[in-house]
Amino acid sequence: MHKNLHDSNLTRYKKPQFVNTFAVMINRYFGLTKMRINDTGDLPDIIALEKLCQISEKCPNTFFWVSTRRKDLIKKLYEKHNKQKLNKLWPKLVIRFSFEHDTRILDDLKFCKKYGVTASKTGYYDEIPKNILCKKLDQNNNCELCVDCYDPGVILRMYAYHKKGKILKIGELEK
Ligand code: SF4
Repeated sequence: MHKNLHDSNLTRYKKPQFVNTFAVMINRYFGLTKMRINDTGDLPDIIALEKLCQISEKCPNTFFWVSTRRKDLIKKLYEKHNKQKLNKLWPKLVIRFSFEHDTRILDDLKFCKKYGVTASKTGYYDEIPKNILCKKLDQNNNCELCVDCYDPGVILRMYAYHKKGKILKIGELEK
């Protein structure tokens, strides 16, 4: 299923009219102020990421949130643009890198600062500082009014491990 979605994302991004069509739909027809990209699957390549940058330039009234595990693409884009922070170049495109749970938060924040991106990661509820905890678990797994992940100023949000709606205690994931 994920592979199919990944493949169809790849096909759509490659169409030459992708950027213009997407931008027109958002600006003219939907008037969206916030849009999540790729909520399933990941960015297939640098071309896809660059096209999202172009779309964000053409849609000045919309904040885009894209999650990715592709550190290589973030680094590539940064290098390609003379090591300028990505959030300075595309302030409306919130690239949220998904860190593995065992990285150190301080290192995560350093990465975000260097490349001009934001982050998310998963951890045990009891270990997550509550000011950076995602609200979904208390909201029936919906964002509802929370827009933190679209906000370039919200550098890190953490999701608690859970199974069938029940929050996992420390160590339960490994059992
Ligand atoms: S509830 Fe907020 S922090 Fe959690 S995923 Fe939705 S926007 Fe992000």
